[in-house]
Order: sequence, then C-alpha cells, then structure tokens
Amino acid sequence: MPQTADIVLVGAGLVGLCTALSLLRRGVSGIAVVDRTSISGESTGASAGGLWPGHECLAFASPDIAVRARDAHARLRREFNCDFMPSGLLALVEEGELACARERVRCTRAAGFDAELLAGRALADREPLLRHRGEAVHFPGDGSIHPLKLAAGIASCLRRNGVRICLNEEVRLVDAAGPAIATAAGRISAGTVVVAAGAWTPLLTKLLGWSPPIRPIRGTLLATEAQDAGTLRTVVVGRRYYYWQLACGPVAAGGSEEDVGFLEGVSDEVEADIQREHGGLFPALQDVKFTSRWSGFRPFCGDMCPVIGAVPGSRGVYVSAGHFRKGILLAPLSGELLASEILEGCCPTPAAFRPSRFPLRAPGT
Ligand SMILES: Cc1cc2nc3c(=O)[nH]c(=O)nc-3n(C[C@H](O)[C@H](O)[C@H](O)COP(=O)(O)OP(=O)(O)OC[C@H]3O[C@@H](n4cnc5c(N)ncnc54)[C@H](O)[C@@H]3O)c2cc1C
Repeated sequence: MPQTADIVLVGAGLVGLCTALSLLRRGVSGIAVVDRTSISGESTGASAGGLWPGHECLAFASPDIAVRARDAHARLRREFNCDFMPSGLLALVEEGELACARERVRCTRAAGFDAELLAGRALADREPLLRHRGEAVHFPGDGSIHPLKLAAGIASCLRRNGVRICLNEEVRLVDAAGPAIATAAGRISAGTVVVAAGAWTPLLTKLLGWSPPIRPIRGTLLATEAQDAGTLRTVVVGRRYYYWQLACGPVAAGGSEEDVGFLEGVSDEVEADIQREHGGLFPALQDVKFTSRWSGFRPFCGDMCPVIGAVPGSRGVYVSAGHFRKGILLAPLSGELLASEILEGCCPTPAAFRPSRFPLRAPGT
C-alpha cells in the first residue's frame, strides 16, 4: 500500500471503479483503490447486470437521470467490452393492470424511451417459450451486460495508468483529519477520500458522525448450464422475479429482495419460489435444472436514491453508495458526477442524491 495518495477510494465495486476512472480521465494521477475483498467481490459481482433504464425510468427521482445514466453507460461500453446484449425487456402485465400499463407506456415514451404493449402473436414471436395469457410492456432499448467483465476491464485500465489497487485490505478507519484511511497494513494519507463501500458504507462513515440510512437487501439468483442460443430472447420481468439468458448460454432467474441483514447464503424457500414462478412462465424449460445459485447484498438507501457527494461536516471526504437495484446502470454516471464535484467544486449531482439530505448526528448521540 502507498503511504500517500492524492485520492483514495474505499471499494472496488463498479461504483468505486467508475469513480476512479472518471478521476483518472480528468487528469488525477495519484489514485489508490482499497478493497477488503477483490475486484467486484460483493454486490457488483453478484448482480444480474441488467441495464433497464426504460423499464425503470419512472422509478427515478426524475426520468432525466435515467436518460443520463443510459448515455453514460453507452459511452463506457464503447471502450470496454462487457458482453452487452441489447435484448429488450418484457414486463408482464397482470390481470386488472392493463390501464396502468397503458399509462406506463405513455409516460415512458414521454420520458424519452421506447415502450409498447404486446400481446398474442406479437408477444409469442418476441419470446416463444413464454406462457402468459395477457399483455406485456416491451422496452426494446433495455438489455444487460456481464458486470464482472466490465469491472475487470476498468480495473486493468486503471492499473495500466498507474492507479494502485490494493486488495484484501480492510479499511478500519476513515479519519477526517488529513483525511486518511487506515488498514491493518498501515495508513494512507490523501487529499481526498471517497467511500464507495456499497452496503457497508455507513459502517465507515459513522466514525465521522454521519450515517446515511443504507443497509443490505440480499438478492438471490439461479442459473442453469449453457442452453441453446435464443432459448430466451429478452429479459422477462414476472410478478416477483426476472429471467434472461446470459451471453455465454445459461438461463438465469431471480432477483429476490430479502431483508436479512448481512446473512450470507441462499435460502431454500427463496430458491423454490423462483423455480415455481420460472416453471409457470416457461413450462418448456421445466426439466432444465438450475445448477448454480448465489446471493449478494444490494446497498439499499431508505429513500430509494443513491447518496453521492461530500460527507456533511468532513472536509475532503466523499461518498458514493446506496445504488440499490440500479448500481450497474448508475455507476458510470455516478462516477462522472462525483469526479466533477471533487475536481471542479461544482455540484452537478441531482438534489435527490446529495448526502446533505441526511443530517449529521448531534455530538454525543
Ligand atoms: C442479485 C442482485 C442482482 C442485481 N441486479 C442488478 C441489475 O440487474 N442492474 C443493476 O443496475 N444493479 C443490479 N444490482 C445492484 C448492483 O449490483 C449494486 O447496486 C452495485 O453493484 C453497487 O455497487 P457498489 O460498488 O456500490 O457496491 P459493491 O459492488 O458491493 O462494492 C463495494 C465494495 O466495498 C468493499 N468494502 C466494503 N467495506 C469495506 C472496507 N471496510 N474496507 C475495504 N473495502 C470495503 C467491498 O468488499 C466491495 O467490494 C443487483 C444486485 C444483486 C445483489
């Protein structure tokens, strides 16, 4: 580990890596990234890699953020190969929800994304193995990537350009004096510290008297062995879970939201529940076994928005965390926003994302 750095980032998930890349691109040379596991060893590596700005745009604080997130991702993908599959997404419409779905299509188009209602033959042509009586909202611009490939590509670019990436080093202290971080191997004094530690972020910032309401929500995914190309053609979002086929062949399923703290592993009930919905939607795949299962901790923030910017009351300490279900999509934009704030002193981050919305703890509380 270096003893000094211009900027040190805690966390080598996609959010930390994209932030480091944005800083590098703006001319910062002394960057260090410290992680207690590996490159994308937590939520990033466990994620589905879904880029669903169309499907999710109405769930953003403003749909404009979804447009900017989509565009920032597209810029990054021009440089880093990450198996992007522009497969489109089908969100199934349940009985009695057709009027809602029509309104959703209208609002999504107004926000700048393609969306259409499909049913019958048109739906069967899009996803032949799907058995669904009603309609689905089709978002043709959505797709997915391989998040580990993207993270690995960014990490090797960072290393080639002199960024020090220190793995298997747990940060035990973020010290506002300096500022600095400390691990068992020593201390790094830096002009700036960025905490991008996903669901673990408040465990570090609470030492500074500030705890954003970020906590883990476990998500489980299952995958089969490789299947024929085109077994699934789109991402299918059902009532509880979602389904898609990876570029390398396996069909994957899941996306549970489990409020179990940092309890690791996969619950048999959740696995059975995913299999049940999968079997109902894709009866032709009933005999295809899920052979892998894993889970990860999404960084959930109480108001459903990420927290990006200066830590209140601490000079030189910044945070980028709480991206919950959208961190893979939002990471490139988050990196650009935070790099601008750190280097240019401006605050381009939407108000809904700013850390100052969560007050400092009063001394002694
Ligand atoms: C099952 C599942 C499916 C998902 N699907 C999608 C999806 O389709 N699309 C999407 O956009 N998002 C998805 N997500 C969410 C996405 O994965 C996260 O929002 C995103 O990865 C958050 O990135 P991050 O870098 O903030 O956190 P992480 O990837 O968790 O990285 C945080 C890093 O900080 C490190 N760290 C923590 N504490 C310390 C410490 N004290 N010292 C040193 N290092 C530390 C950790 O080791 C970790 O590497 C999914 C998540 C899960 C679990």
